[in-house]
Amino acid sequence: MIKRIGILTSGGDAPGMNACIRSVVRAAYKKNIYVTGIEYGFKGLLNSNFINLSPESVGNMLHKGGTILKTNRCEEFKQKKYRKIAYNNLIKENIDGLIVLGGDGSFKGASILSKEFKIPVIGIPSTIDNDIYGSDYSIGFNTAVQTIMDSVDKIRDTASSHETIFFIEVMGRNSGHLAIHAGNVTGAELIMIPEIKIKNLDFLVNKIRKINIKKKSIIIIYAEGCNLGPIDKITEYVQKRMKNSNVRFSILGHIQRGGSPCEKDRINSSLLGYYSVNEIIKKGKSKMIGIINGKVTFLDLEKSIKTKKEINKNLFKITEIINNY
Ligand code: ADP
Repeated sequence: MIKRIGILTSGGDAPGMNACIRSVVRAAYKKNIYVTGIEYGFKGLLNSNFINLSPESVGNMLHKGGTILKTNRCEEFKQKKYRKIAYNNLIKENIDGLIVLGGDGSFKGASILSKEFKIPVIGIPSTIDNDIYGSDYSIGFNTAVQTIMDSVDKIRDTASSHETIFFIEVMGRNSGHLAIHAGNVTGAELIMIPEIKIKNLDFLVNKIRKINIKKKSIIIIYAEGCNLGPIDKITEYVQKRMKNSNVRFSILGHIQRGGSPCEKDRINSSLLGYYSVNEIIKKGKSKMIGIINGKVTFLDLEKSIKTKKEINKNLFKITEIINNY
């Protein structure tokens, strides 16, 4: 029987993590299971940064961005000798199941630990990148899209007044899920993502020129991991080639990670937390929990980390069509 579970947040923070921690603690409480919060991700597991999480202690945080457990990256965790220390710390604390909120890197660490030491793990997709295979949804994604939308709407006002061609950088080192959604909801004329390579800078200039015949002000959503970057060099090049235009760039940066979680991120975080507790007490194979077509689903954790989540090519194509004419 599972008597105590540990919970940690790892990798990049995402709005909704706190709502999920709260849900895990309260769902576990109903089942007479204790919850230990592990601070600073896997690093905290190595250093025994443990705190008790009671149902009262997770009050007044449903609406708060970031993570009360803090988060960190931990290179040592990639080595078995450190994972052994982590496992020993779990045993000392009487933790017999682990819930990990993070992205694909965190899932990798959790999956290896689980396999090596036979400890059940549930991974909850929590990354604004929404790039985890096995779920349509990831905690924080919708809030991040909303933040980008609010910012780009403002840039659009000034861009259209000055008839500017604006490159706007959003997060996404390896994936364009965020950029595609952001591009759709902001009416961006062009979306640049790492998964779809653009041949070269001249090819890009030609694309912009074509759009520029009909529209003087253009918004280009640029995911940070695109092949032609960095964004300042691209802007410089396009400006040189389009001397009569006003070309600018803006990097949205870390504002995309912060803020109060939106309605969808609060509801889904609550559901994912609750069902993760239900699943971990079965002491079965380690899994990731997800939401597919509106339903909570589970998938082998190892399968999730070994498979790349495809971008929504249909949404990309439709967005290009309807945001131009
Ligand atoms: P994210 O979870 O957001 O993708 P990272 O890729 O930075 O963030 O991963 C978070 C942490 O997960 C890393 O700092 C490391 O502790 C752990 N991790 C990532 N990859 C591995 C791996 N191959 N083996 C063990 N641990 C890993």
